[in-house]
Amino acid sequence: MKSILAASEAAALLASSIKGELPDERGRFGPFGGRYIPETLVPAFERLEAGVKRYLPDADFQQAFRRELRQWVGRPTALTFAARLSESWGTEVWLKREDLAHTGAHKINNAIGQALLAKRLGAKRVIAETGAGQHGVASAAACARVGLPCRVFMGTVDMERQAPNVDRMRRLGAEVVSVETGDRTLRAAIDEAMRAWVSDPNDTYYLLGSAVGPHPYPYLVRELQSVIGEEARQQMLDQAGGLPDVAFACVGGGSNAIGLFYPLLGDAEIELIGVEAGGTGSGLGQNAATLATGTPGVLQGCYSIILQDDDGQVQETHSISAGLDYAGVGPEHALLQAIGRVAYVTADDEEALAALEEVCALEGILTALETAHAYAAAKRWSKDNPGKRILIGNSGRGDKDMPTLSQHPVRIFRHASA
Ligand SMILES: *Cc1c(COP(=O)(O)O)cnc(C)c1O
Repeated sequence: MKSILAASEAAALLASSIKGELPDERGRFGPFGGRYIPETLVPAFERLEAGVKRYLPDADFQQAFRRELRQWVGRPTALTFAARLSESWGTEVWLKREDLAHTGAHKINNAIGQALLAKRLGAKRVIAETGAGQHGVASAAACARVGLPCRVFMGTVDMERQAPNVDRMRRLGAEVVSVETGDRTLRAAIDEAMRAWVSDPNDTYYLLGSAVGPHPYPYLVRELQSVIGEEARQQMLDQAGGLPDVAFACVGGGSNAIGLFYPLLGDAEIELIGVEAGGTGSGLGQNAATLATGTPGVLQGCYSIILQDDDGQVQETHSISAGLDYAGVGPEHALLQAIGRVAYVTADDEEALAALEEVCALEGILTALETAHAYAAAKRWSKDNPGKRILIGNSGRGDKDMPTLSQHPVRIFRHASA
């Protein structure tokens, strides 16, 4: 991309990043991040930041968090050797199985961590927003687990695409608030949740679902999701006999990707590749390829790379997967791209559908449509890198995508009938 950093500056930022020094005290990842919020939210963010500083490193908090991850989420999640995919692609493919985590995706790691934090901060209720519905389900479940009422904002477009998740949230005791404003997807839902927070900043905890938004959320979410990469790194050493040559993860807001990548940043020999939604094409509004095609700007309280037109108007986005359908991306990814540590590529709707089909047929895993983008890019990469060892972040399961998948009959991979 547009090189906005001098080489020496990029090298220094990479070193700081590996040492765990980012974000800095201003909440910045190099030039990205920070906090761009209305005056009315400043006290709420300052309280949150103080709470994160106090509780996140606290031994009691960590013990409670680790216990919930083990006993309730079902961690560590498996690392699976994908024998038939490996044979098909000519590479050695390993899957980090976040689909096996409670509620079916990585989002639960963050949700239970923040729900525990909300309890410690004395919150009386939790609000959340959701795109794919997975974060809403995870939040509803986590709030039930810790005993806090939960209200989830969701765009009406997403409510339609993810109808089964709306029912799951309600069943788990959450109130689902439909959002008719703006793009009626995740972006509008975040705006509404922020508005709700302004109206009751003292007793409400806002449980943000990805590594986006104003400081300290990108930091908080990364810390809670890093368990993915920490486990995967150790499991690769134990099971695969060494680290991977490359790791792939899909990128919406960027939480599963940063969770997988962050603990691998210091392993310079591992290539890291984030995969965004290429949608139906490269035109404005046809995709959600934020890092691949976006420009620097402020979206929802954070300076990052965003999809906007020449006048700074945020673009509508499209992806077949609701969880990737977002015009922004976490600021740490913007930095990792700018300093060249992580490459960001795209996979389009059709490639994702084909990849999903292949993973189903060859591995018996109905992966999420979001995750399918990572597989599509990994397959492409395999063509030029035979024999290499690949780690894929299998961020979630695809049961929630059945309404969408039903419109796309199985085409390529048919099992031989008896
Ligand atoms: C929400 C979701 C994503 C995208 O969110 P990130 O914050 O980018 O991880 C990816 N995969 C699945 C299964 C999801 O539910």
